[in-house]
Amino acid sequence: VHRWVNYESMLKECLVGRMAVKPIAAPKGITFHVLTASYDLLLLTYFLTVGQPVPFRLLMTLLSIPCSLGNTSCDWFQTDSLITVVIYTKQKDVNAELVTVDCQDRRLRGEIIMEDHSYLVEVDLDHAVQEDLAVNIAEKVGKVEIILKKKDNIHWKMLGKPLESHNTFIKRMDRGLFYRKCKLASKTEVTHDTKLFCLMLPKSTHLHVPTGQHVYLKQIIAGREVVKPYTPVLPFLPLNFKEPSCHGGAHIYLMIKIYSCGLFTQALDHLQIGDYISLSNPEGNFKKSQVQTSEELFLLAAGTGFTPMVKLLNFALTEVSCLRTVKLIFFNKTEDDVLWRNQLEQLALKDERFEVQFILSQPTKDWVGKQGKISSSLLFEFVKRSRKDSKVLICICGPTPFTEQGVQYLKDLGYSQEEIHTFIA
Ligand code: FAD
Ligand code: NAP
Repeated sequence: VHRWVNYESMLKECLVGRMAVKPIAAPKGITFHVLTASYDLLLLTYFLTVGQPVPFRLLMTLLSIPCSLGNTSCDWFQTDSLITVVIYTKQKDVNAELVTVDCQDRRLRGEIIMEDHSYLVEVDLDHAVQEDLAVNIAEKVGKVEIILKKKDNIHWKMLGKPLESHNTFIKRMDRGLFYRKCKLASKTEVTHDTKLFCLMLPKSTHLHVPTGQHVYLKQIIAGREVVKPYTPVLPFLPLNFKEPSCHGGAHIYLMIKIYSCGLFTQALDHLQIGDYISLSNPEGNFKKSQVQTSEELFLLAAGTGFTPMVKLLNFALTEVSCLRTVKLIFFNKTEDDVLWRNQLEQLALKDERFEVQFILSQPTKDWVGKQGKISSSLLFEFVKRSRKDSKVLICICGPTPFTEQGVQYLKDLGYSQEEIHTFIA
């Protein structure tokens, strides 16, 4: 009807695939074909076929077809060489960070995070596929396509055998962690006790860790599974760093302090390049929108509590135009413990909105900078609104007592719960 509703401008994103001939018998002898698991299209098809809106009783019959969950549905189609699994989330703003896909030994697992819910596709595929897969996302219509390459160019009669959790839509926290094995690609020194570990994801994995979220690493130590959380960083701190989109996030960088009597970090430090370690899906409750609505961002970090600040800094300085000030207050014991000091100082020179302050609790005599620990007077001085009505976000991360004390001081200074985000497990 409308000139602008044409294939290129709109309909292309809605392309489902070829028509599947799957007749549904409707009352009064009307038969039409289901093009997709979408009810909208079903109703439209009825309207176009019969020329009238769907009668109430038939509508009720159609709605009882079990093909959609939490408004999300899944379908698949094939060509000679490809299998495409399509998930219609019916949500706007589904992006690559919300989709995690793995295909190991013919087992396909695709998870989509929608607010605090998780939708899962989990199938034992009917035939073998090649190692690499692709994920296409049509953000505007919330359509996610998982494209697999057939190993043999044969016609598949079915996608495969659905597993127990297939096609479920549940609270995110009720979905267990899923791990895949990653290869240790490199290990570089950051300070005397902290290293940057680069892990390579399998080709058959699509995974991006969103800003402010962490993953879990799992190792077998002395015959027992040990799991610890770590927050991915970027390989360095440039401005305008974009994670490569092809093979999206094929590398995950972790900045990890090795404790001399640490159970997990000692075992991690003994891994050789080429060894494998299990890495989970992302977890965390930080929302980028918290930054997007702020004018001033204050980051309070202690030791490796700096790790969530890395992606946050990159995001804030490259993608949030309403931010006037970004200030990092970084607490460490000594000068030698400061992570990426040089890069932070360079960043402050490059971007005038960014300022960094180093505070040492056990400095040597030569230290001319600030010294001490987190305190009310220190925060009063550093975390100050530049305007009375400024929208402020304060993020805090470090040893638990540091974080708890910091929050208390901030509350005493009059900051509200909504203005404070704590990074904890
Ligand atoms: P353990 O065997 O548990 O402890 C041995 C000794 O090490 C302790 O006696 C103590 O001296 C010291 N130690 C251990 N844990 C801590 C601690 N949490 N604080 C202070 N001293 C400690 N760490 C990173 O290096 N990089 C990260 O990106 C990172 N991200 C994290 C994200 C989250 C959400 C959380 C909760 C923690 C994060 N950690 C991070 C800490 C990490 O999970 C482990 O606690 C840490 O690596 C120590 O593990 P371990 O088994 O070697 O030490
Ligand atoms: P650290 O070197 O031991 O300490 C860093 C600074 O914090 C030092 O100046 C230290 O002062 C100070 N500090 C420590 N405890 C304090 C307290 N109770 N009150 C006030 N100041 C305190 O730190 P680290 O070994 O790197 O540990 C970093 C912590 O961050 C770990 O506990 C880790 O689990 C946590 N972390 C959490 C996340 C997350 O997302 N939740 C991410 C990364 C790291 P002193 O001289 O007094 O020791």
